[in-house]
Amino acid sequence: MSRVLKSGSNQITCTYAQHCANVAAGKAWAKGADVVKYKAQIDKITAHSAGRVIKVVDYLGGTNGIVDDEGMGYGNYVMILHDGNYVTLYAHLEAVYVREGQTVAQGDEIGFMGNTGNSFGAHLHFEVRKYKAVPAGNLHDVSAYEWLDAQEWLDKEFPGVASVEVKAGAKFDLRDTPVYNSESGKSYGRRSGIYYVWSDEVKNGRIRMTNSAAHVGMNKQVSFWVSIDDIALLESNAETVTTAPSPAAEKTYTVKAGDSLWAIAAKQLGNGGRYKEIMSLNELKDDVVYVGQVLKLPE
Ligand SMILES: [Zn+2]
Repeated sequence: MSRVLKSGSNQITCTYAQHCANVAAGKAWAKGADVVKYKAQIDKITAHSAGRVIKVVDYLGGTNGIVDDEGMGYGNYVMILHDGNYVTLYAHLEAVYVREGQTVAQGDEIGFMGNTGNSFGAHLHFEVRKYKAVPAGNLHDVSAYEWLDAQEWLDKEFPGVASVEVKAGAKFDLRDTPVYNSESGKSYGRRSGIYYVWSDEVKNGRIRMTNSAAHVGMNKQVSFWVSIDDIALLESNAETVTTAPSPAAEKTYTVKAGDSLWAIAAKQLGNGGRYKEIMSLNELKDDVVYVGQVLKLPE
C-alpha cells in the first residue's frame, strides 16, 4: 500500500535523482518524485502524514505548461505542514478536496490525481521539504527550505518531534529563530544565541524566553516570545538549567550612604570580620562599595 495513494501501490515514473538532474540541467524547477498507481495509474491522493493544509491551488483546468498566479507549474496542488516543519506537496491534481487551514490526518483524501499545470500525463508529483522554521510568506522561497529525497520518504514516517521541554529555565541555543513581542504579536526579528524559557506557560503555541537564567520567572524586561515549533527544531541543544538561582533563597543588601563592608558585615551577619566572605561572594577586588550596589550576603 501507499501513504499517498488511496487504493494502490506506488509506481515511480520519474525518480528523485532524475528530478535533481533535470533541475541541475535547467529543465525542471522542483525536486520530487513522480508517482502513479501501479497498473491502474490514477487514484485518489491521501495525506502522507497528519498535518495542516498550508497551501491550496485548485482553480486550474487544462494541462501542459499552464502556470498558476505565482508562476508555478504545479497545476492544482496541496501543501501540508507536518510536525518538525516537514512539508509535503502534491501536484498536478485534477481535483482538490481540502482547503487551506484545514487539519488532516494521515490517509485523509486530499485530492484526485490529474494532469494540471506543467504535466504530460496524469501523475502525482510528490515533494518533501524541510523548512528552517514554520513556513510563512512565500512558500516557494528556496532559501527557506531544502528538498528531501521524496522517493526515500514516500512510504516513511517523519521523525516525530519529541515533546519539547518547556520548563522554566530550559536553555536553548537559538539560531536565527523568529521572535515575537507578545504571545500573538508582531515579529520582533530574529535571534541567535543562548536564551532561557521564562516560564512553563504556553500561549498561542508560543513561550516567553529571556536572555539570562537570573531573569527566569522574575524580570520580564529582556524577553520575547518564540514559537514552540521553532524551539522543537533546536531540541538537540536543549539543556535544562538545573542550578537556576532560587531568588527566594538569596539574601541581598543594598548599600546605603555611609556604609562600609565592615559595617555591613557587622550589622547583617553579626560579625564585622565576615566582610571578606561578602567580598569573595560578590567577587569584589577591594573593599570599596558604592551607594545602590546590591550585594549578595552569605548564609
Ligand atoms: Zn515531478
